[in-house]
Amino acid sequence: MAEKIKVAVAGNPNVGKTTIFNALTGARQKVGNWPGVTVEKKVGTKKHKGHVLEIVDLPGTYSLTAYSADEVVARDYILDENPDVVMQVLDSTNLERNLYLTSQLLEMGTNLILALNMSDRAEMRGDDIAIQRLESLLGVSAIKTVANEGTGIEALLDSIVNKTENKPPKPHEIGYGKGVEEKICALEEILGYDQELSKHYPLRWLSVKLLEGDENALSKLSSSNIKGKVHDYLSDFDNEEYEVEMADKRYEFIGTLLPQVCTTCAEDVSPSDMVDKVVTNKYLGIPIFLTLMWGMFELTFAFATPFMELIDMFFGWLAGAVTSNIETAWLASLLGDGIIAGVGAVLLFVPNIFILFFAIALLESSGYMARAAFIMDKLMYTMGLQGKSFIPMLMGFGCSVPAIMATRTLEDEKDRLITMLVTPFMSCGARLPVYILLAGTFFGRQAGSVIFGLYVLGILVAIVSAKLFRTFLARGQPSPFIMELPPYTKPLLKDSLRHMWNEGYLYLRKVGTVIIGGVVLIWLLAYFPQGAEYGSAGSLIGSLGKLLEPLVAPLGFDWKIAVALVFGFVAKEIVVGSLGTLYGTGGGEALSSALMADPGFTPAIALGLMVFTLLYVPCIGAVAVIKKETGSWKWMFFQAAYSTAVAWILALVTVLVGKMIL
Ligand code: GDP
Ligand code: MG
Repeated sequence: MAEKIKVAVAGNPNVGKTTIFNALTGARQKVGNWPGVTVEKKVGTKKHKGHVLEIVDLPGTYSLTAYSADEVVARDYILDENPDVVMQVLDSTNLERNLYLTSQLLEMGTNLILALNMSDRAEMRGDDIAIQRLESLLGVSAIKTVANEGTGIEALLDSIVNKTENKPPKPHEIGYGKGVEEKICALEEILGYDQELSKHYPLRWLSVKLLEGDENALSKLSSSNIKGKVHDYLSDFDNEEYEVEMADKRYEFIGTLLPQVCTTCAEDVSPSDMVDKVVTNKYLGIPIFLTLMWGMFELTFAFATPFMELIDMFFGWLAGAVTSNIETAWLASLLGDGIIAGVGAVLLFVPNIFILFFAIALLESSGYMARAAFIMDKLMYTMGLQGKSFIPMLMGFGCSVPAIMATRTLEDEKDRLITMLVTPFMSCGARLPVYILLAGTFFGRQAGSVIFGLYVLGILVAIVSAKLFRTFLARGQPSPFIMELPPYTKPLLKDSLRHMWNEGYLYLRKVGTVIIGGVVLIWLLAYFPQGAEYGSAGSLIGSLGKLLEPLVAPLGFDWKIAVALVFGFVAKEIVVGSLGTLYGTGGGEALSSALMADPGFTPAIALGLMVFTLLYVPCIGAVAVIKKETGSWKWMFFQAAYSTAVAWILALVTVLVGKMIL
């Protein structure tokens, strides 16, 4: 019996790896998992020309860095199992992107076969790829395939056998320029002292990875006696810089290779790809994301202000008309001070809510939000979450309830639990009225920036909390995730408007139900006992507030704020409505003036209150859905207690710092 030939099938996602794997192996395959991770592992065998091929379908990867578990799985398989042949499947219509992985496989010194798949589509586009040229330039074998029609599969099998029977040519080496090459040489020399290491790993590859600061590569030295030397050598360099420089060199290499192989391929960089290069750029990605968000809040403010003034005027007039036309004192008070003031204070923000949701819908339907998740992927991964978690978290900007339910898309239980626990820190639409009132009142022109800052704070607290939970509560690695970027599309106005209406309608419905209920309850507490002045310290609500005041007194919050926060648990908009009731002003301008006139309500306090509102226990609806989705009272109470504690501490810090600088 002939020796087994080990073949690893590598490639970017969606290039046809699995189709080729199936065509090569037929039905003889075994599906399992890669050790330690939930990445599917498929192995199949095939007899060909007296050889037995053992073929493994590696996870799809764009490169072979250590940023995602998929990449580490693929890379470690190649290093540790040392397959006789690595077959990279490429999408012939997208050679430029696919060749990046090729450059990395070459670097690892693999015995490489390229399956230029999807060549039917490439031909349809008129691309003519000079296979032999490609083979000689790279020192590899290449074969055109159309996997779903079975074209080229026999040739692949022949090529695999051929590759192992004959001594393969030396693969092309990418030069990194004099400075870097010197360092690679020096590292190779140090590594060469360790015999075990030299036997196991291609030293040039390992040196390159070490220069790039690749932690996974560094860990391969952990039991080596030259570890200290390598560390010393590396400590002089800025790895980030090398990582960028070397990646640039690889792209440069591909840039010069491509036109020699296919004159029409290189030109065809779609506008979508070009936008993605900028938008998902390592350095620009996050600033662009933040700038877009900031712009969104500025716009929300600018467009909504005139509408808010109209609504404010209307409710002012309505309250006046009601109180002057109704004789019965208690009824006039219930309608005027209670319902109209409370509901009006909340309805005031309808324009903001609609505009914000419209902007979010535009970003979503254009395909940008998927990029946002892509950009966050690396950051999220280092903080113990997978990039996929960012999608429910983004939904949390709307409302935590559907966002928490959306975590069902996460397969891994720990990933899901952590995402559920941190999603409420993403600032939902209900908190916006509180910010608009307070930031608008106390920060004037800077209001948009203050609100933007709160949203960013929410994201940061969510991410840092995820790291804490991952470290202390749900240990392990986030599961690997490969993000496919959908093509950009022209944002659909109709869809965006519908989305805006759906979200806005939820807000309106909440005003009609929960919020009316809340403000009526507050009115009752403010109106009784008979004889006490409405909403004063002598009323029921005043007594309740006085009881709670000590809890928030260290933050500089008085009893009115304490009451508003307690009722905010029903729905966070009620914080605004109850302030309107307690100050006896209703919402809008009148409430703003009353807050400014209150000496206990300083800009620092306002800022602290906004931070507290952002972070403290989410509303009752969100708490209930956490109970339901985690199936556990423990996690529900934990989330409520944790978030309130974080809110208390950060609000205190905000107030203290605010007092010094504002
Ligand atoms: P993987 O993610 O790399 O495993 O890709 P799949 O094998 O799942 O293939 C992705 C899609 O591309 C499937 O719908 C295949 O039917 C299709 N596909 C695969 N090879 C070809 C090909 O050569 N030409 C065309 N037109 N489609 C292909
Ligand atoms: Mg596949």
